[in-house]
Amino acid sequence: MISIVEPKVEKQSRSDEARFIDPYGRKISYLRVSVTDRCNLRCFYCRPHGVFEALPHKDILTYEEMYRLIKVGADLGIKKIRITGGEPLVRRGVVEFITELTKIKGLEDISLTTNGIYLSQHLEKLYSGGIKRINISMDTLKKDRFRKITGADRFKEVWESIQLAEKINFQPIKINMVVIKGINDDEVKAMALLTRSHPYHIRFIEYMPVGIQKQKPGDYFISSLEIQQQIEQIGRLIPISSNTFDGPAKMYQFENAPGRVGFISAMSNHFCGTCNRLRLTAGGYLKPCLLSNIKQDIKGPLRSGFSDNELADLFIKAINSKPMEHQLDSTAKSFISDQMSNIGG
Ligand code: SAM
Repeated sequence: MISIVEPKVEKQSRSDEARFIDPYGRKISYLRVSVTDRCNLRCFYCRPHGVFEALPHKDILTYEEMYRLIKVGADLGIKKIRITGGEPLVRRGVVEFITELTKIKGLEDISLTTNGIYLSQHLEKLYSGGIKRINISMDTLKKDRFRKITGADRFKEVWESIQLAEKINFQPIKINMVVIKGINDDEVKAMALLTRSHPYHIRFIEYMPVGIQKQKPGDYFISSLEIQQQIEQIGRLIPISSNTFDGPAKMYQFENAPGRVGFISAMSNHFCGTCNRLRLTAGGYLKPCLLSNIKQDIKGPLRSGFSDNELADLFIKAINSKPMEHQLDSTAKSFISDQMSNIGG
């Protein structure tokens, strides 16, 4: 059990919330927190073998440090937190940490993104701790293919976690599939069909050329439009209005289906104009844009004794450097130096 000593957060002035609007008028209210850079999978498109060196433990933010930064963020207007990684569930104490976050005033939504391997053993505790929504990454329904994509034979655990989450009544259960041309794009219909029998939100994510990749630029990319066209061969998709929890996904439903189908088109139809996100990496950087190399060190200042007001100023500095839009092109060679698994997706 971790114990978090409640930090003393100096009262921010009311105008701080107003200051948490970036130069392009976007109100920043969503912080994605990567609690570790370590992962128990080696998805070839996220963290290829041999190109990853884990940070030394001393360089990873402690839970107390993250808690303090999240509290500073909440006082500035952050309302939504997503815990990510690496794989968040490989870090000891993370479930206790997440449930502690539910006590922070101002936070309205706390959720978790996981590959699902260790999830089943934590689901009851997460649910009773106030976490009712969950995102699980799953790129295939085929056991052998799962091993090829991730380097591990763990499909069974992931699928069992999804089924248990449904039984416990997590709502919604979002399943994220990165669609990769020539690798798993023949499964989009099968994945979409799950929404006819289960209340899952299956979200198809466009592949982003981030980090060091071996393939030629554009080789893996397939657009949301092409994916949607494939799915519409099995039935009409009815557009539904997205709610605040859908984020940038465009949502649809088959007639009378309990689940939903979503498309996240970061490359073909970027949603930068409405991006409300900031990221905190496990190594202690604030990143105002997933698809840019801009980052603001906050761990150094935090460890050198900055006050909460001074840390708040660094949050504001980070959002002031948020680019108007990302410059990554699906056919271009990536210029994003970090692997996705370091940033947290
Ligand atoms: N381990 C957790 C998980 O699997 O959900 C959280 C971290 S993972 C980096 C977050 C998300 O980023 C996953 O859904 C993953 O599929 C996605 N992702 C990683 N690399 C990507 C890429 N190159 N393009 C699109 N999505 C990617």
